[in-house]
Amino acid sequence: MSGQKRPDRPGADMALPASGLNLLLGTVLLLTGCAINPVTGGRDFTLMSEAEEIDKGRQAASDILKEYGRYDLPPLQAYVDAVGQRLARESHRPQLDYHFTVVDSPQVNAFALPGGHVYVTRGMLAYLNSEAELAAVLGHEIGHVTARHGVRQYSAAVATQAVATVGSLAASILMPQAGGQLAQGLQSFLGLTGNALLSGYGRGHELEADRLGAEYLARTGYDPQAMIQVIGVLKNQELFDVEIARQEGREPRRYHGIFATHPDNDTRLQEVVGEAGRPVRPSGRADGRRTEFLQQIEGIVFGDSVAHGVVRGNTFRHREMGFAVSFPPGWRVRNRPDEVAALSPEGDALVALRLFGEPRGSPADLIRARLRLAPSDRVVSMTRNGLPMALVTASVQNREPYMVAVIYHDDQAFLLAGKGASPAAYDRHRDALADSIGSFRTLADAERAAIRPLTIKIITAAGGVRYADLARDSPLGASAENHLRLLNGHYPDGEPMIGQRLKIVE
Ligand SMILES: [Zn+2]
Repeated sequence: MSGQKRPDRPGADMALPASGLNLLLGTVLLLTGCAINPVTGGRDFTLMSEAEEIDKGRQAASDILKEYGRYDLPPLQAYVDAVGQRLARESHRPQLDYHFTVVDSPQVNAFALPGGHVYVTRGMLAYLNSEAELAAVLGHEIGHVTARHGVRQYSAAVATQAVATVGSLAASILMPQAGGQLAQGLQSFLGLTGNALLSGYGRGHELEADRLGAEYLARTGYDPQAMIQVIGVLKNQELFDVEIARQEGREPRRYHGIFATHPDNDTRLQEVVGEAGRPVRPSGRADGRRTEFLQQIEGIVFGDSVAHGVVRGNTFRHREMGFAVSFPPGWRVRNRPDEVAALSPEGDALVALRLFGEPRGSPADLIRARLRLAPSDRVVSMTRNGLPMALVTASVQNREPYMVAVIYHDDQAFLLAGKGASPAAYDRHRDALADSIGSFRTLADAERAAIRPLTIKIITAAGGVRYADLARDSPLGASAENHLRLLNGHYPDGEPMIGQRLKIVE
């Protein structure tokens, strides 16, 4: 959740929020003409002109920055941009105006917009282990740009989805007549729709991006094999999650991010990377500039940032706004710029928190003014943890029952809502939803001051040190040992070598 207080626009929260992705889709609805594909030289009938492509990309880029936020570390931004610009100059479309941006997201992802806007998350940087691997990620995304996959992808998405409704949970509660709300809320929550649009290019396009990326690596002096290493890094993310999911007794996440569609042992991938040959001007750096890369990422935030609020042990704390909410134990918490939400392990219930503008009258007044209540809905006013609150429970006769609270804290109204996918699911989770809504509280000064993000620290491995030793003092919790392996490219069973530079989390 972003720390900014929004201007109070009457009814702004009532509308289905136009997420960045909705806007993105909106910007690409107009697809016209045919154009020459820069890579194949052939004609693509679904493409827009290059000028249009650049224009649409620029519009969408501002939506992306609103959605994710730029990571505020200028030297790192400059470094990533410099690596990207070197690759772009050797690409099939060197004339485009490329921008390479690190976005402030803990997710492991990278994506590109038409026209040359390329993004990598700080979450992705944390798991990479050399400049060559970073170049592979950027080269792959440049490949999507030069082959104009985005343009083709968007037209396919528009054709199949018409208007994609990436609704949030709160919006679905506020607009119960929208239909199919929870399914959409869940999809939005899991980020499935978004990633499918941004990076789900399909196998053919992914392989082409790998081939082009490998070619650009070779032309800039990096070993094209870094492309295969990076795909291994991402594949290991999936395997690690399968391991954790087993321990937690849940379904593994389906990985929908970058490179999702091909396995690392794919023979076609080996072939296309092989075709890129050896580096044109070998840098003579067998380690792919590992040390330089690690220096650049030392100190970056790992996981949630303080400005967006921090989740520890399923309690969300926001330092700037000075409050905390505890979500039900074992639920999966997702902290998004517009909403913090928790999903039950079975996926059949949600709790979500969002800003609800400035207080106007009492919380009950605000609820009546802003929510579309049925005549039978009863609004109950109370004081909870010293804060004014109003609660509406609308479970009767509702296919997807919910409870919604408005809470006033520090000149700001908050909406905290719980919802079940069915009356049975709602009954099963009713106490957990109520406890979570009732847990909203003001942070004490000491607790507020103690909130800090986790960061990446670089250490030098002492003789005989093992990941089990490093895991003992790690804030990464029960799975720290293998998580540290994952961060350092040693998953699933490697150990540090003496004198090796390693990433740990502090
Ligand atoms: Zn891709």
